[in-house]
Amino acid sequence: MVDNGQHVLIAGYHRTIAFLQLIGSNDFLTIQTRPDLLFHHPTRGFRRFTVPSLPPPFHFGGALLGSNLFSGTDRIRLLRAGFNLMRHSAAETEDMTISEWLGTTGQSPEARRSFWDPLAVSIMNELPQLAAASPFMRSIRETFLGPWRNACLALPVVPLTDLYVRGAIEFIHARGGEVRCSHDVRRILTEEHRVLGVRMRDGTTVRSQSVIVSVPPYRLPDLLPSDGETGIDLHGLGQASYSPIVSTHFWFNHEFMPQQFIGLIGRQTQWVFNRHRIEGNRAPGSHISTVTSAAYDLVDHSNEEIVTRGLDDLRTVFGSRVGQPYHTVVVREKRATISLTPAMERIRPSQKTAVPNLFLAGDWTDTGYPATIEGAVISGESAAGHAVGYLQETLSTV
Ligand SMILES: Cc1cc2nc3c(=O)[nH]c(=O)nc-3n(C[C@H](O)[C@H](O)[C@H](O)COP(=O)(O)OP(=O)(O)OC[C@H]3O[C@@H](n4cnc5c(N)ncnc54)[C@H](O)[C@@H]3O)c2cc1C
Repeated sequence: MVDNGQHVLIAGYHRTIAFLQLIGSNDFLTIQTRPDLLFHHPTRGFRRFTVPSLPPPFHFGGALLGSNLFSGTDRIRLLRAGFNLMRHSAAETEDMTISEWLGTTGQSPEARRSFWDPLAVSIMNELPQLAAASPFMRSIRETFLGPWRNACLALPVVPLTDLYVRGAIEFIHARGGEVRCSHDVRRILTEEHRVLGVRMRDGTTVRSQSVIVSVPPYRLPDLLPSDGETGIDLHGLGQASYSPIVSTHFWFNHEFMPQQFIGLIGRQTQWVFNRHRIEGNRAPGSHISTVTSAAYDLVDHSNEEIVTRGLDDLRTVFGSRVGQPYHTVVVREKRATISLTPAMERIRPSQKTAVPNLFLAGDWTDTGYPATIEGAVISGESAAGHAVGYLQETLSTV
């Protein structure tokens, strides 16, 4: 089984880690003992970014000053951006893109290319000149200005279905719930400003006292009543754009990559993951997975072209040892995440709607965070909390 793309978490994804603990899946993550990122720079070769185990904010300052990824003057500029992150409130940057915010802190083109752009594209799945600054800054603040452990990367050692889905289904079954796969909802049924339930693709109706809709935004207009009673800006969401991610899996008969993962600077491939090492798989050969987020320049190319470009990138780092893979799989997710521009950020709807027993969940709803797993979990917890509150209130008045 191959995933649609390598997913990376951080130890600072507290709600996701709590969710995985709840469903008994937290052992399926391998978490770094120290935040340590290895990058490959096109002219300077391998460079490290390590966060020392100091109290905040000294750990971030220490990481910037101690990293051989940056020149001396860039370290000072990066520290300036770090101070700016500490001082600025989200309101001050709410209309800015990441590029505009970086402009206010005087970052050099090299500091952007080597540090900010890779972070921005990975976290936001969007180009820094388009992505909203405020969710990015919030995420960076929690990653790098909280306890140093927050910045440790956490990688799934099993396919995503085993990580997120199996345990969740068992959890629901154990509490008398039911999960129906491949049962599309066609319509949310409402009457007198209340949700009654949902109509399924096969025409059956499931009645319910409350409904949490967790579909992507482009599915919402077909499901919801179009008369505006939900208070959701369906027209605005209809204008939303999405950003693609392209992942390529390569299988080789031999090994050439000693690391679990590395970041590539200034290349189309942004991250390279060594799946065998991550999984602790000692079988001969290797399974390498590459990722390009905000992959506008790659997504429409043929599989052959994408594989060739990926191999070229691997060879710039590992040389001729890369050789030829015996099998490849290209996965294009054209609508991987919503594009969180400042305009989109302004219309992200709350998990609570104007219909008292209808709630929304999804990474695209208003969490203040980027469209990530952590944002999705936070939105789910918020929607569930509102739904429980509604049910308790309704039961207490019966
Ligand atoms: C290739 C790729 C790599 C990524 N990498 C990372 C990463 O490294 N770190 C990170 O934090 N995030 C990453 N993300 C983002 C992360 O996957 C999302 O933020 C997260 O999955 C969003 O969860 P969600 O529940 O909001 O939406 P989704 O996971 O999109 O779930 C929506 C669900 O609704 C279902 N649905 C749609 N229509 C209907 C209907 N009519 N009836 C019933 N069900 C319906 C869909 O089948 C789907 O299961 C990545 C995403 C992609 C695509």
